[in-house]
Amino acid sequence: MALQVELVPTGEIIRVVHPHRPCKLALGSDGVRVTMESALTARDRVGVQDFVLLENFTSEAAFIENLRRRFRENLIYTYIGPVLVSVNPYRDLQIYSRQHMERYRGVSFYEVPPHLFAVADTVYRALRTERRDQAVMISGESGAGKTEATKRLLQFYAETCPAPERGGAVRDRLLQSNPVLEAFGNAKTLRNDNSSRFGKYMDVQFDFKGAPVGGHILSYLLEKSRVVHQNHGERNFHVFYQLLEGGEEETLRRLGLERNPQSYLYLVKGQCAKVSSINDKSDWKVVRKALTVIDFTEDEVEDLLSIVASVLHLGNIHFAADEESNAQVTTENQLKYLTRLLSVEGSTLREALTHRKIIAKGEELLSPLNLEQAAYARDALAKAVYSRTFTWLVGKINRSLASKDAESPSWRSTTVLGLLDIYGFEVFQHNSFEQFCINYCNEKLQQLFIELTLKSEQEEYEAEGIAWEPVQYFNNKIICDLVEEKFKGIISILDEECLRPGEATDLTFLEKLEDTVKHHPHFLTHKLADQRTRKSLGRGEFRLLHYAGEVTYSVTGFLDKNNDLLFRNLKEVATQFKMSLLQLVEILQSKEPAYVRCIKPNDAKQPGRFDEVLIRHQVKYLGLMENLRVRRAGFAYRRKYEAFLQRYKSLCPETWPTWAGRPQDGVAVLVRHLGYKPEEYKMGRTKIFIRFPKTLFATEDALEV
Ligand code: ATP
Ligand code: MG
Repeated sequence: MALQVELVPTGEIIRVVHPHRPCKLALGSDGVRVTMESALTARDRVGVQDFVLLENFTSEAAFIENLRRRFRENLIYTYIGPVLVSVNPYRDLQIYSRQHMERYRGVSFYEVPPHLFAVADTVYRALRTERRDQAVMISGESGAGKTEATKRLLQFYAETCPAPERGGAVRDRLLQSNPVLEAFGNAKTLRNDNSSRFGKYMDVQFDFKGAPVGGHILSYLLEKSRVVHQNHGERNFHVFYQLLEGGEEETLRRLGLERNPQSYLYLVKGQCAKVSSINDKSDWKVVRKALTVIDFTEDEVEDLLSIVASVLHLGNIHFAADEESNAQVTTENQLKYLTRLLSVEGSTLREALTHRKIIAKGEELLSPLNLEQAAYARDALAKAVYSRTFTWLVGKINRSLASKDAESPSWRSTTVLGLLDIYGFEVFQHNSFEQFCINYCNEKLQQLFIELTLKSEQEEYEAEGIAWEPVQYFNNKIICDLVEEKFKGIISILDEECLRPGEATDLTFLEKLEDTVKHHPHFLTHKLADQRTRKSLGRGEFRLLHYAGEVTYSVTGFLDKNNDLLFRNLKEVATQFKMSLLQLVEILQSKEPAYVRCIKPNDAKQPGRFDEVLIRHQVKYLGLMENLRVRRAGFAYRRKYEAFLQRYKSLCPETWPTWAGRPQDGVAVLVRHLGYKPEEYKMGRTKIFIRFPKTLFATEDALEV
């Protein structure tokens, strides 16, 4: 008898359909040994590949257990409906090859094991067929794998998309912009040897044939304080070490630099110039080459290196106090190099480092600085020089990525695919202005997520002709308003205080905050707290109850740091960050979203270690249980009639081996035969909707012999 064999990859199981006796086989990891395994035991071993199929979907313990089972089997990807959850394996799993890319091209999301490439392909196909702009939002805490995911996505598009008719170099430029941005914007931290110290949103533009033709990058909140200070065990931005290790003798001589990082005060604070996982020398080669690919001329490279070098020289500028306690520069050699590298007059620079300009009665006066003030001015200059260079670099990359074909007809019909790689919620022992901005950003993204998820659920129900049942969920708009509302919001109050230089302090800001928002249910300070809570709040702190949990912020430095972000025109009361965030939200809102939520399995950066406490923390701060609740509010599972029938047709004599009529009618016959109760499912226009996982599992298990 001819065996009619149909191979259907279903998760990790390959199904072989026998004409009369359906059976299941699991491939051994060596690809040769084949063992029998029932769907039930496989589920026990590797968990479910979509959290919506968890019976007890409100249980955090069940959620984490499922993650653990999959992680143990090196299955790092799991869905929550269309959302991809990814756990950093900290080892090369060999799952991003060209072969893997091909496997995920053109197949339906649910017919193959969960993978980043499934998201990549689904997004790309939607872009092409529906011609709607897309955005992949990648979030997670430091070291969770956001940047790796972004790079894999870019690689997927660069390798699998057709080449544009003209300007094929754009694919290289898109890829090569990465090492350059990472050199200037990434650093070794305690949590991640290659930590992005800025948020990044990248647009890739595709022409009507689906070929990448251009790109654009927006950067957010570069952590410029790192230029002058690093915590123990951390480094400054990679580029400094790369240049010293990999730069040619001649280059270093011209820049007046020594090879040894220990010679530079800005590089020794963390006491870890050498990192075993990083090869600065070879990385520098990559960066140098990349700079050429993204159109840097030799002169521009020279300018860039001069500025990098000048930051190091600035760090080595020392001062001594004269008889009047005024600061004087004592390191003439450094000053000499700086005047040359920055092309400024020595006297101008000396003056800028040791004096402050004040305007009194319409006249400009120079007031001398003391030692402490001069050191502060020096560091402020270094930070400003570096952060402006970073902004210039991003602008320069953007010019190189801009489609060269903007006038051609194909340009007019471009679609855009955005990739957002931005820090997740940050909660430390000590939280400051930076965490406040980052967490506010996450609060906005969560709001967008809920809005868009509910909207797309609602739209799908509508399109399928199924009645919408309202979902109970926590709307975090109340917290966003608390932060951003005009006049009454935290940012407004902060901006207002920044307009009273000399009078306002971090503590007056806190007092004003207490007066204005004292009755808000998501806001608390020492003064406003009850007896019991008061103990856990310091006097210079305020606490916000974010959607993901409580965070206590210390107001120390809020005014200074906000001043840094303010528009130069101080009459404007909106901060730059708030504006750019609103702009980002607007960009994302106009696109079809996809989500990748990254999780870090342990703090030791090691493979195979699943630290439950750490993971539970991230599940909470990523809002994953809330994601799941929204997703499971209606139906756990939905499938196109064709796909459903194809998979289960062997369970009913009337649909097996083929059903000649409409797939929808075939499914109706099939589920009647299986004894589905009316409350268990609904028939839409193109899909069947199943309310509970157990119905689906019973059907799945019936495939067993
Ligand atoms: P940060 O917020 O600090 O920038 P991140 O989320 O961008 O963190 P990554 O830099 O992407 O984190 O990942 C940290 C490290 O984890 C990588 O350098 C790599 O060694 C490892 N890693 C991340 N994702 C994967 C993966 N899918 N496979 C193998 N290793 C990975
Ligand atoms: Mg990163």
